Amino acid sequence: MVVLINEGSASGAEIVAGALKDLRRAVLVGETTFGKGSVQNVMQLPDGSAVRFTTAKYYTPSKTVIQGNGVVPNILVPLSSEQGRAVAALRNNDKIQPAEANGILKSKDLQMMRGIDALKGVMIYAQHEVIKDLVAARLAKGGGVIFEAQQVCVERIEGERPAIRFMKDGVSQKLECDFIAGCDGFHGICRDAIPQGVLKTYDRDYPFGWLGILAEAPPASQELIYANHERGFALLSMRSPKISRLYLQCKPDEDLKEWPDARIWEELHKRFATDDGFSLTEGLVIQKGVTGMRSFVVEPMQYGRMFLAGDSAHIVPPTGAKGLNLAVADVCVLAAGLKEFYAGGNRDLLGRYSEICLRRVWKVQRFSWWMTSLFHRFATDSEFDRRRQLAELDYVTSSRAAATTLAENYVGLPFE
Ligand SMILES: Cc1cc2nc3c(=O)[nH]c(=O)nc-3n(C[C@H](O)[C@H](O)[C@H](O)COP(=O)(O)OP(=O)(O)OC[C@H]3O[C@@H](n4cnc5c(N)ncnc54)[C@H](O)[C@@H]3O)c2cc1C
Repeated sequence: MVVLINEGSASGAEIVAGALKDLRRAVLVGETTFGKGSVQNVMQLPDGSAVRFTTAKYYTPSKTVIQGNGVVPNILVPLSSEQGRAVAALRNNDKIQPAEANGILKSKDLQMMRGIDALKGVMIYAQHEVIKDLVAARLAKGGGVIFEAQQVCVERIEGERPAIRFMKDGVSQKLECDFIAGCDGFHGICRDAIPQGVLKTYDRDYPFGWLGILAEAPPASQELIYANHERGFALLSMRSPKISRLYLQCKPDEDLKEWPDARIWEELHKRFATDDGFSLTEGLVIQKGVTGMRSFVVEPMQYGRMFLAGDSAHIVPPTGAKGLNLAVADVCVLAAGLKEFYAGGNRDLLGRYSEICLRRVWKVQRFSWWMTSLFHRFATDSEFDRRRQLAELDYVTSSRAAATTLAENYVGLPFE
């Protein structure tokens, strides 16, 4: 449940909202409430004056005093007084004065929009948290994880009993397998173990990279912000409520020595500047790096009893935030195939692994390329290209059909 609150929510409204918040029954969206949470009696005195007694104060279930403080929303969406008037009029549309109607109908009810987002349940699931959860799930099922294996190689992948050899603590070990899942990333050994001539490679390098920082700064926005700026693309994302991840479009071979922290923040401020009061939160930079941008696919994604999954088979530029999503999609298809095989020996789904995955891979490649071309500045762009790019952004942010297409691809296409 989402409850919209603002400084007009007083007394009963804020007592109920505070209780729902503390009991985790609702997410409060908007602004801090009025702060009227006392019970008062007025006693008339013989001389005509009066005394006002406060006889009780309302507390929320977690013992927070409402009086004078108000209830603070879970998701703060402040509005300027002008926006506040427009939103009030929008919510009571019978009261819109003809003179105001044009301006008001153009404005958006940002609090309502954030409330709907909260109901839809957007969750930032940072990649290191995904790893932690996967390791925990594996251990909970009694499985093992071997870290720091050295000299890993795969053998007999075209036969019925492939194997993985590796060194662990100076001891050579061999794992006999039914199947091998080659989930070892772009620089792993599985793809290169497939004989030459089997795989066909498709790739594209982009003429820019991303200068990324991790900063001890609470994210300046609840949502990711993609900025298309004349100076180049910028992205605001988050790792946790206290750590922000920020990126700047840069040269593919950008020298980090030329980017002291102050210059990075200065550039970020420029690229995220708006006229609606948004301000970037700065903090200590705890990590800095440059990432190249490329699109890469190998076909097929299977050889014998080895299945390539994730970055070992394909790379997407990070603009569409699809790399991990696509890796998980591959693994879902593989898991379904293995389940079918172990249930009754049926190899049909395993046999179609590559074909099924590649249908998604190419759609995701298309989407990631499109997002990249939509947001970045290309040195070869003409004024025509720039106008076309801005028109496309305008279309995506104003057409429900276009926004739905973006959302479907961003979240992930349905499984076959
Ligand atoms: C800057 C940046 C931002 C990104 N942002 C997003 C995003 O927002 N959303 C998203 O979905 N994706 C994003 N990605 C992409 C995402 O990180 C990858 O696509 C994803 O991690 C791929 O998962 P994977 O398991 O296939 O490969 P990897 O994550 O590379 O994992 C491969 C693993 O195999 C191990 N390994 C390799 N070789 C061996 C060996 N010989 N023996 C044992 N182990 C080995 C490696 O150590 C590693 O742990 C981003 C990538 C970058 C670079």
